Amino acid sequence: MKSKAVIIGAGIAGLSSAIRLVQKGYEVSVYEQSGHPGGKLNQIEWNGYRWDTGPSLFTLPELVEELFLMCGEEIKTSVRYVRLENITRYFYEDGTILNAYGDPRRFIKEIESVTGEPGVHVQKYLDRCRSMYNLTRDVFIFKPFNRLGTLLSGKFLKAMLQAWKLDPLTTMHQANRKRFDSPHLIQLFDRYATYNGSNPYKAPGTLNVISHLEHNLGAYFPNKGMFSIALELSRLAERQGVKFHFNQRVEEVLVKNRKTTGILVDGRFTPADVVVSDVDIFYLYRDLLKSVTFPEKYFKRDQSTSALIFYWAVDRQFPGLDLHNILFSGNYEEEFRHLFDLKTVYQDPTVYIFISSKMVQGDAPGNGENWFVMINVPENRGQDWDQMIDASREHIIRKIERMLGADITPHIRKEFIEDPRSIEKRTYSYRGSLYGASSNSKNAAFSRHPNFLRKLKGLYFVGGSVHPGGGIPLCLASAKIADQYIK
Ligand SMILES: Cc1cc2nc3c(=O)[nH]c(=O)nc-3n(C[C@H](O)[C@H](O)[C@H](O)COP(=O)(O)OP(=O)(O)OC[C@H]3O[C@@H](n4cnc5c(N)ncnc54)[C@H](O)[C@@H]3O)c2cc1C
Repeated sequence: MKSKAVIIGAGIAGLSSAIRLVQKGYEVSVYEQSGHPGGKLNQIEWNGYRWDTGPSLFTLPELVEELFLMCGEEIKTSVRYVRLENITRYFYEDGTILNAYGDPRRFIKEIESVTGEPGVHVQKYLDRCRSMYNLTRDVFIFKPFNRLGTLLSGKFLKAMLQAWKLDPLTTMHQANRKRFDSPHLIQLFDRYATYNGSNPYKAPGTLNVISHLEHNLGAYFPNKGMFSIALELSRLAERQGVKFHFNQRVEEVLVKNRKTTGILVDGRFTPADVVVSDVDIFYLYRDLLKSVTFPEKYFKRDQSTSALIFYWAVDRQFPGLDLHNILFSGNYEEEFRHLFDLKTVYQDPTVYIFISSKMVQGDAPGNGENWFVMINVPENRGQDWDQMIDASREHIIRKIERMLGADITPHIRKEFIEDPRSIEKRTYSYRGSLYGASSNSKNAAFSRHPNFLRKLKGLYFVGGSVHPGGGIPLCLASAKIADQYIK
């Protein structure tokens, strides 16, 4: 008889674990409290418009491709994606516009001509980020950090001997300021802290490695939008025999003699040899793992940022905008002080506009566009969100009008809003944060929750709230790590 595995949560990491375990020969069931796969990777539709509601930037597609290959399928028969020619169009308050082209040589030329920063500085920087990635990938990203084997490995020792190359003792901002003269460029590279919801003025310089993924390895976009990644992974899992149970909330993970025995759903016991939880670790401990002491101390640290997003059905096209657009704050430091120290929103926030209809035919009707307009906001600490949403909407609209010279209000036909409260409620993400705990300290990479507990057999943790962290690539990496420890 086959061993049984239960996956709790059909987020990207849960889906990946399901595919990995069914390939290992387990009989796999996925329990998901909502009615769809993907978790934060979701979509909404209205009157011919479609919006991806969560992640919009797709890097390291080979981690998704690997899952298809594992099942003997080619990814392109299910998800086709393209490398972006222009990754992001950046707009600055002084009127500067900079295109971060996907081809590094073109990107460097653009930087030279727009900011005057010598291309050699950028080339050296990108080379440095590449070596940081090569030094850390097999130590921090694709391996369980708390295992003796990792700490004794040649790769770990090599990384430690070259630790100075990782900028662990400076902040991202200090490291970027040291390497560039142009304030525009410093701001552009500081922004990568937001890719895991952190603060570039506090997070260690090692996190500058993130820009390597986009600028050396490339940014991609699926031809049918981001949600298609989750949908097609769930279909792949189903083709392999994984059983999905949607609208089924797991109430408890049952434990006997320091080993999981199964789960409780609707008061019914489902036995399992292995349980993989893709649930945010806070909710797992608080609600599902009643036999384990709640680790108070772990949850005292700051969470990563959350988001306030307006999904706008726009009735005209804006040729000056691309797929991904950033309208930078005029005072980035102040913006982060508001997010992390004051736990509120700055009056001049950095605005991200993502318009998938620029690439996906059918995501908006006729002459329209589907705008996803997002600002980073603090974790949910019970602030007056209704007031903050009203104020931010005003600030965002004024900023768009000022920086793009366009009147947007008359062109918004419909609006949907997502805020930290709804993100928390919909996906059970602690304080609505997008990437688990923040990485604002020097030891953040070493102190993420591990992918398993030594004292509890049969239970594994995947997803953005555990090692190695949030964002699609790291969530996929978490499933890969857990898989290495499941027999
Ligand atoms: C607005 C936004 C923008 C983002 N932008 C990007 C981006 O551009 N690029 C990027 O890489 N990442 C981005 N992210 C982050 C990325 O979406 C997440 O890191 C990733 O999707 C998290 O996946 P996960 O596997 O941890 O699970 P989640 O997506 O958090 O899903 C967990 C699942 O578990 C289910 N669940 C919880 N409790 C239970 C229970 N008791 N029983 C059953 N099911 C349960 C939930 O319903 C949910 O479906 C963004 C996120 C958001 C919200």
